[in-house]
Amino acid sequence: MSLIVTGTIGIDTVYTPTGHGERILGGSCTYFAAAASFYGPVRMVAAVGGDFPPEFMATLGHFRNVDVAGLEVRKGSKTFAWGGKYRDDMNSRDTLFTELGVLAEAPPKVPASFADSRFVFLANTHPGVQAGMLGQLPRRALTVADTMDLWINVAKPELLALLKQVDGLVLNYDEAELLTGRKNPVTAGRQILGLGPRFVVIKKGEHGALLVHRDGLAALPAYPAEKVIDPTGAGDSFAGGMMGSLAAAGSAPGADAGSFDAIRRALVHGTVVASFNIEAFSLDRLRTLTRAELDARYNEYAAMVRV
Ligand code: AMP
Repeated sequence: MSLIVTGTIGIDTVYTPTGHGERILGGSCTYFAAAASFYGPVRMVAAVGGDFPPEFMATLGHFRNVDVAGLEVRKGSKTFAWGGKYRDDMNSRDTLFTELGVLAEAPPKVPASFADSRFVFLANTHPGVQAGMLGQLPRRALTVADTMDLWINVAKPELLALLKQVDGLVLNYDEAELLTGRKNPVTAGRQILGLGPRFVVIKKGEHGALLVHRDGLAALPAYPAEKVIDPTGAGDSFAGGMMGSLAAAGSAPGADAGSFDAIRRALVHGTVVASFNIEAFSLDRLRTLTRAELDARYNEYAAMVRV
């Protein structure tokens, strides 16, 4: 069933303890769409500036399931740019700079051909922009949003308004604490359910993810990865695997796409596809990933977590 994403397409500069990537393709929407494309078609709504390199456009084009009809190129504007530096544990990072560029302008519009989208993912961007998408998607069946520290700090009222309109929220452990003031992720998750969503997924990097759903709790370990080159986009590709697999499964008539069991199953796909993304900078690993590799790791992981 039709999946749509809005978020950032960024030019990233990333430093890890073992290397760095300068002005590489990134952005929340980018990683999400690339990961989701392994499960089915994904529609992208985003904006970039006239400085967006043609080779980045070619990289997006490599993912055949990604429909870029909603990608606006604004000649006189600048692309969103972000710089980050990971600490030695690779689990935490500091933002070096955020240049909003097109994000400070009017949000991109949903093309008429995308208006019938059923599965909606609001990847990280200003919560006002995320909310603006919803009015343009009257047929949505499942809406999930991501957010992060910047938006919790600078746009909390807009974020709280958005939470009343979504089925699910995905965020990091420390962001859940920032949003709720609660250190315990289960308590934080339950408090977020009180703000509107039916479920919240709290990600804890190499420690996996916690699902706090109105109908139950589930915890999933991360895939025990040996090769971690660049964790950037782990959260977005995780969400891409989750929503991509939900949209694929949601074709069954009468299926409740947001049920506890459906979300828990989808998190397995998110975990597996994210474990590939971190093996290289930018989209370099997702670009070479094959269906067979994805399936093999899914089976390996499923066997690992079976009790
Ligand atoms: P992740 O590692 O999953 O949190 O995603 C990192 C990606 O998000 C990078 O490629 C950045 O371009 C993008 N990004 C960083 N800060 C923001 C922000 N405040 N809003 C939206 N996207 C962001």
